[in-house]
Amino acid sequence: MSIFRDLWWYFKRERLHYGLGILTLFAVALLELFPPYAVGAIVDAIKQQSLTPGELGKWLFLLGLTAVVLYILRYIWRILLFGAGFRLERLLRQQLYNHYTLLSPRFFHQRRTGDLMAHATNDIEAIELTAGDGVLTLVDSLFMGGAVVFTMAFFIDWQLTLVSLLPMPLMAWATGHYGNLIHRRFHKAQEAFSALNDKVQENISGIRVIKAFGQEEAEKREFEKLTSDVMQKNIAVAKVDALFDPTISLIVGFSFFLAVSFGSYLVIQDRITIGELTQFTIYLGHLIWPMLAFGMLINIMERGRASYDRVRELLSIRPDITDREDALDQVPTGDISVQIAAFTYPGKEEPSLRDISVDLKRGQTLGIVGKTGSGKTTFCRLLLREFDVEEGAILIGGIPITRYRLGCLRKAFGYVPQDHFLFSATIAENIAFGRPDATREEIEKAARLACIHEDILQFPKGYDTVVGERGVTLSGGQKQRISIARALLIDPEILILDDSLSAVDAKTETAILQALRANRANRTTIITAHRLSAVEKADHILVLENGRIREQGTHDQLMAQGGWYADMYRRQQLESLVAQGGVARGDA
Ligand code: ADP
Repeated sequence: MSIFRDLWWYFKRERLHYGLGILTLFAVALLELFPPYAVGAIVDAIKQQSLTPGELGKWLFLLGLTAVVLYILRYIWRILLFGAGFRLERLLRQQLYNHYTLLSPRFFHQRRTGDLMAHATNDIEAIELTAGDGVLTLVDSLFMGGAVVFTMAFFIDWQLTLVSLLPMPLMAWATGHYGNLIHRRFHKAQEAFSALNDKVQENISGIRVIKAFGQEEAEKREFEKLTSDVMQKNIAVAKVDALFDPTISLIVGFSFFLAVSFGSYLVIQDRITIGELTQFTIYLGHLIWPMLAFGMLINIMERGRASYDRVRELLSIRPDITDREDALDQVPTGDISVQIAAFTYPGKEEPSLRDISVDLKRGQTLGIVGKTGSGKTTFCRLLLREFDVEEGAILIGGIPITRYRLGCLRKAFGYVPQDHFLFSATIAENIAFGRPDATREEIEKAARLACIHEDILQFPKGYDTVVGERGVTLSGGQKQRISIARALLIDPEILILDDSLSAVDAKTETAILQALRANRANRTTIITAHRLSAVEKADHILVLENGRIREQGTHDQLMAQGGWYADMYRRQQLESLVAQGGVARGDA
């Protein structure tokens, strides 16, 4: 019952709908007592041979009228109660989704996507069920059941009632027990199905790797195991399901058997009339649903309880990165100063960045290079305030980034992450993601700057081509350039290209960098790269190693130093020389 207490805030909020719905249910329960009574009266009149056509007509008219009124009332309570349940579903799902958007990337790293989706779907559905069907079964089992038992006991015969009801608790128990079993087994079947789903998805995306390694047979066997598992678990559900109806029929049958045997005895003894016995057996039929409802109620409440707790647990997680009370409501602009004594990812022992000190004038370009894992992405993520720096500070326009409202801070950035992501929408929509109101001209301009315009025109529907699962497949380089166009369209104060040119060829890279220089005067750009040619023209270059600055300066200064950068630069020049058959990139 505690779940109803926890949902009380919602019942109160929707009191009009719940109040009217429950009142209507009451009215239905009371009205339903009438038809058996009428039938009993007709039977008795026939027995006493006193039934006139006029009398029969009156009863039939009343029965018809009751049927119509019941029809309307049943419609009304369904709309009221189930409607309220669905509104709760929408409310909670929205709350949860809004909450997800507030949580930091760290939260999403720690949780499985499938799990988060299950909370937003299955759990919320279970709560909706509690607020709709749960209330219905509660009222029906208590009130409708109560009204029928009361009528049977007080208006017909209490002994007959007692005897006939003997098997009923068994029925409530059986419904609850089987319901529970079905639920548990169904859950397992669902899990097995999820595993199968994951496997199919993985195998289809990874089919080339599977074939290349000749693992088809092994994968087939693995798949066979999973499908058998799904089948067995579904059969386990079907077995309980198959027991359900026969058990209920058996118990109900037994109840009727007792009612008719003992009832006939009472008729012979003249304690009740034959009409009353008829009326009684119809009432008994009316008790089946409240009993079933009672068993269901217990299940619904248990599931609602568990789901509500899970959703509440998620909602209670506080975002790590929040706005300060006095947060500034302005989009940051100006010089950037990064002073980080040390930054350690939560849960890690070793800092990922140490002794980083860089000052960047507004409009300058910063290049960051270094091996994989040297801390380039971490640097970008700290600028975006995906994590807070404890030892040190990052300032934009002389103000620490923690002082800006998060929404404003992020507006200053156009970020092209390493693991770029395109939505299953048209190319134009993907580019205009940050500014959905952009005109086609603006979208095309951004695409031209990112050197993807010509490619897009080659697609079947040009800018209106859908990408992703439902549309064309793009190459890695095309995806990267669309992501760059998306960042350029918002014309950000600070553009971050995090290893975003890795999949484009050298010529395109040069063209994009040139376009950026020409179009981003007075706006800051940060480029991280493996290929040093991407940062060659930057105003300042950081060479990171194990989270520390190993070298820094302009390209010329770094070349003159003759360290890692100079070494690497020559090596990469040589590689590209070989790749291009003799013409060094710098000379081309
Ligand atoms: P780069 O971009 O230069 O390849 P990263 O900034 O991604 O390097 O990584 C720097 C270091 O931080 C690595 O040792 C990496 O393992 C660690 N790291 C990166 N992201 C996380 C994270 N979310 N949680 C914990 N450690 C991380």
